[in-house]
Amino acid sequence: MPVNRERFLNDFLELVRIPSPSGKEGKVAQAVKAKIEVIGLTVEVEEDDAGKAFGGEQGNLIVKVQGNVNGVEPLFFNAHLDTVVPCENVNPIIEDDKVRSDGKTILGADNKAGVCVLLEFLRVLKEDGIKHGPIEIVFTVAEEVGLLGAKNLDYSRINSKFGFVLDSGPPINKVIVQAPSQKNLRAVVKGKAAHAGVSPERGINAIQLAARAIAAMRLGRIDQETTANIGIIRGGLATNIVPEEVQIWGEARSHDLKKLEAQIAHMVSLLETEAQKGGGKAEVEVTESYRSFKITEDDPPSQLIKSALAKMGLEPQWEITGGGSDANIFNEHGIKCLLICCGEESPHSPENERLDIPSALQSVDLLVKIIASVSQ
Ligand SMILES: [Zn+2]
Repeated sequence: MPVNRERFLNDFLELVRIPSPSGKEGKVAQAVKAKIEVIGLTVEVEEDDAGKAFGGEQGNLIVKVQGNVNGVEPLFFNAHLDTVVPCENVNPIIEDDKVRSDGKTILGADNKAGVCVLLEFLRVLKEDGIKHGPIEIVFTVAEEVGLLGAKNLDYSRINSKFGFVLDSGPPINKVIVQAPSQKNLRAVVKGKAAHAGVSPERGINAIQLAARAIAAMRLGRIDQETTANIGIIRGGLATNIVPEEVQIWGEARSHDLKKLEAQIAHMVSLLETEAQKGGGKAEVEVTESYRSFKITEDDPPSQLIKSALAKMGLEPQWEITGGGSDANIFNEHGIKCLLICCGEESPHSPENERLDIPSALQSVDLLVKIIASVSQ
């Protein structure tokens, strides 16, 4: 039996109708677990404690499929169960080779397309009696709110050294081999409150201090590998009060850790010095969001996908992304992961998000060819 379009679509339409905002993936996890258990593979489905670590209702689902050949290394696959909002009452509409929402909600192809590709992959393995080694699939939670599922995954349960994260868009031969590091910055700029009309000279305007610092910052695209942004600024209480406090949130990303450090240092130092010059102060907190990764063409997952694509008459198109994903976290934990296509397009946009059905089905086919070439 080849990849089954109707069966894949039925899964997809069912799963996108189950709301699963980050931290509330319980129902969709149950549905996925039930689907896996009836496939008939020798499989264990476990849940880890990741949800408890960040206050979510559901942990990561860890699916271990026993191999049917000996002496083959385990292979890792991942997709995430949560979606961005709005995700209540999703009304999926099929138009030719695409699925979209009615525009009032997101569709949730990010990342239910990946989840359904993996389900269909397991069914094809079973039906076609394909020879395979052990397979470890992790369906993560809370990817969209800081990769919290992947960060809190129980890595002691994972034996794979490499694998594939299905959370990218077409074409099928686009393979993401490199992603940046990201750091987040949160600053509180403090001035002094005073009546704006009666005694402004007693005040120190925190908004003005923050504005001077931000105006002097290098932001946007810093160079080919580095970007920076101030994304939120909040402060002030009323027009007749000299504002005492401003809060600022920003980020920087780079494929080069030294450049990232330099950019963050630049932002922090401007906030501190401009606040000080004006008689106020800035408290700045920097946190690491995720670390960069870089997989070479010689690494095992690249070799595998290259030979699998060749069987489809395709050549890999190695790409670099500017975004972070669970792949960053897995790579940080020593599981070499490439980020590959699952058919999702324009994620996070109610108007534009689509599932591209042909590339999702090709993705199933690609996984089957990958697993077959490992077991040869
Ligand atoms: Zn995603």
